[in-house]
Amino acid sequence: MLIVKKFGGTSVGDKERIFNVARRCIEDYKKGNDVVVVLSAMGKMTDELIAQAKDINPNPSKREMDMLFTTGEQTSVALMAMAMDYLGVPAVSLNAFQVAMHSTNKYGNARLKRIDTERIHHELDQRKIVLVTGFQGIDHYNNYTTLGRGGSDTTAVALAAALRADACEIYTDVEGVYTADPRKVKDARKLKEITYNEMLELATLGAGVLHNRCVELAKKHGVQIVVRSSLNTAEGTIVKSATSTEEKVAVGVAGDKDAARIAVLGVKNEPGVAFKLFNLLARNNINVDIILQSVGRDGTKDISFTVTEDMAQETVDVIRNNFARSKYKDIDVQTKVAKVSIVGAGMVSHPGVAAKMFQALYEDGINIRMISTSEIRVTVLVNEEDMEKAMNAAHRAFQLEAE
Ligand code: ADP
Ligand code: ASP
Ligand code: MG
Repeated sequence: MLIVKKFGGTSVGDKERIFNVARRCIEDYKKGNDVVVVLSAMGKMTDELIAQAKDINPNPSKREMDMLFTTGEQTSVALMAMAMDYLGVPAVSLNAFQVAMHSTNKYGNARLKRIDTERIHHELDQRKIVLVTGFQGIDHYNNYTTLGRGGSDTTAVALAAALRADACEIYTDVEGVYTADPRKVKDARKLKEITYNEMLELATLGAGVLHNRCVELAKKHGVQIVVRSSLNTAEGTIVKSATSTEEKVAVGVAGDKDAARIAVLGVKNEPGVAFKLFNLLARNNINVDIILQSVGRDGTKDISFTVTEDMAQETVDVIRNNFARSKYKDIDVQTKVAKVSIVGAGMVSHPGVAAKMFQALYEDGINIRMISTSEIRVTVLVNEEDMEKAMNAAHRAFQLEAE
């Protein structure tokens, strides 16, 4: 069997954990399997690199940030190769350039396009464990790129697809995918399995346990993912195309503080204004999430929408500089907001899911600022300080149970 295993930052956070991971990989290797291991930077190293960079220059170039980031995962793979060697097993570390993991050139948020598998196969043929840096790629000119925070999961799934691996295992600091972040919702339960669509929705809506792009890739290439703990042998969660259990109305709750609410106030109430506003944002590559338009009065209306926090200022600038001043009165920005969502493929055939969620929020005295729904989710915007309380309320409302 060819197995791709990925270990996150906490799992390789210190010497003891590095040896723990080395032993787990060696166990599979000694059974005769080919083993490819993707590693993240140790502990909080990526955050520390950001702090270091900002101390030198508060506005560092994205290219140099990616150059800096790659040192984090490179440290992990090199130390791991040394640990395996110490334990008497041959291993080789490779970075994105050495493998040749080709990506787009969008620094900080690149997408993998093509992975050369020749070098990896060559090393596996020599019966080595192959250690690959997570989260990085190279662009057309061999500049290093990174795939976005949490992107090592995506490296693992992309490798599993390219190598046609028999298994893709993602090891982390919790035992699998839960009905909500177990650090925020104490009643959260581990799921035995979850569909790609549900996992994709949860990951996109803030469940950081998997990078959402990794789920997208897994779905596209039919890679089954197992999420499990690096610290014990408990059975994890399988992410796959269809689950055998009966379709649940709701499968999980997610919270995301990375949201900002922009309100364009006193917009002229005439046809085409919304089109012009959102067309302007689209042309500037600004992704808009929840949209709310107030009922018009006195010839004007308010249009509110959310964007990610890092886009808030740019969004305001784009509107101020390009949207005719005569078309609106003012812009208001609120960054202390969070999204709380409930996700489940069964929602489409069960009316009343939203009402049940709103009731739970009401019972806990949480004010809803905006609402958005789709066939597979209900999302509300709340004040940031209410996020955990709202996640717990939503979770309670559906008595989300695993099985
Ligand atoms: P790694 O470094 O291994 O990639 P991450 O911190 O990226 O680990 O992801 C694991 C974390 O994801 C957990 O510690 C947990 O707090 C968080 N998390 C958020 N939502 C969920 C969820 N639904 N199920 C499990 N963990 C979740
Ligand atoms: N080290 C990177 C990060 O902290 C990538 C990852 O962990 O997946 O975001
Ligand atoms: Mg992660």
